[in-house]
Amino acid sequence: PQLINQIAAGEVVERPASVVKELLENSLDAGARRIQLDVEQGGARRIRVRDDGCGIPREQLSLALSRHATSKIASLDDLERVGSLGFRGEALPSIASVSRLTLTSAVAGDDSGWSLQGDGGDRFEAPEPAPHPVGTTIDVRELFFNVPARRKFLRTERTEYGHLEEVVRRLALSRFDVGFDLNHNRKSTLRLPLAEDAAARDRRVGQICGEAFLEQAAFMEQEGAGLRLWGWMGLPTFSRSQADLQYFYVNGRMVRDRLVTHAVRQAYQDVLYHGRHPAYVLFLELDPALVDVNAHPAKHEVRFRESRLVHDFLFRSLHRALGALRP
Ligand code: ADP
Ligand code: MG
Repeated sequence: PQLINQIAAGEVVERPASVVKELLENSLDAGARRIQLDVEQGGARRIRVRDDGCGIPREQLSLALSRHATSKIASLDDLERVGSLGFRGEALPSIASVSRLTLTSAVAGDDSGWSLQGDGGDRFEAPEPAPHPVGTTIDVRELFFNVPARRKFLRTERTEYGHLEEVVRRLALSRFDVGFDLNHNRKSTLRLPLAEDAAARDRRVGQICGEAFLEQAAFMEQEGAGLRLWGWMGLPTFSRSQADLQYFYVNGRMVRDRLVTHAVRQAYQDVLYHGRHPAYVLFLELDPALVDVNAHPAKHEVRFRESRLVHDFLFRSLHRALGALRP
C-alpha cells in the first residue's frame, strides 16, 4: 500500500501548491469558517493548515490517512452529485506517504484533541491526546524527503511559493464566507477576513486581483434556463498580456475549461477586444447533475452535460452585460 500511495502521490501531489489545494479543500469540506496557513520555504519545508471545521473523531484519524477512506461519498449515486470538493479519499494518504505528516484534530464534545504522526510510511502509532480547539490542523513537513527524484523537480522557493499563493487566491475567491490567513516564513502575506456583504466582497476581489482591476471592473449578474452567472467583469479595455486574471468557477469550483474560455472570449471579442486576455472573476451556478467534475483527478476540467446550452448562456449573458457598459 505504501508504494501505491506514493504512486498516487505522483498524480495528486506534484508540488507544495498541490498539497495546499488538497488541504484547503478538505478544510472547506469540513465547514471551516477560518483557515490559517503557515508555510516555510515555499512549502517545501513546511505547510501547516489549521481550520475550525467539524474535526475528525479520534477513531477515524487513522482512517483518514488510509487509501480510499473518504467520508464524503456513501454511494455511487452520491458520486453523480458530488457537492463536496474532495471525494476520492486519496489526498491525505498520498501526502502522508511523501512527507512527515502530523494530523491533530478535535470534535465538539471532546475534552481533548488527538494527534497522529506519520513518517512517510503507512503505519501510524495510536493517536495521542493533544490540546486542540474544535477543528483540524495538518502539518506537512519536508515534502518529498523520501522521494529524491521528486524533490529535485521543485523549483526555487519563490516559484513554489508563487504557485502556492495562487492556489490560496483561487480558493479564497470561491469562498467569501471563509476567512483565510496566509503566512510565509513567519510573515503575513495574505490576510483575507470573512467577506459577507457586497463591500467586503469587493475588498477581497481588490486584495486578490489588485485595486486596478477592481476599480474598472463591472459587477454583473444574469439568470436564465436554470443557469446563473455573476461576478466581476474587467472592461474590454483592461485586457492583459497574460491570462493571469481569469477566474471562472462552476458551482464554486475553479475550472479551466475550453468551452468556457471560448464563450467568454467570443463575447469580449464581439464587443471590443484588444486581442489580449480579458480579465474576470465569474461564477456559474447550475444543477450539479448537469456537470461532471469527475473528469480528472486534478479536478480542473469539467464536462457539461449540455455544453451547447452552457456555451450559449455564457456568451449571451456576457455579451449583454458588456454591451450595457458601452458609453
Ligand atoms: P477526500 O477529501 O477525497 O474524502 P482526503 O484524503 O482528502 O479524501 O481526506 C480523507 C478524509 O479525512 C476525508 O474524507 C475527511 O473525512 C477527513 N478529513 C481530511 N481533512 C479534514 C479536515 N480538515 N477536517 C475534517 N475532516 C477531514
Ligand atoms: Mg480531500
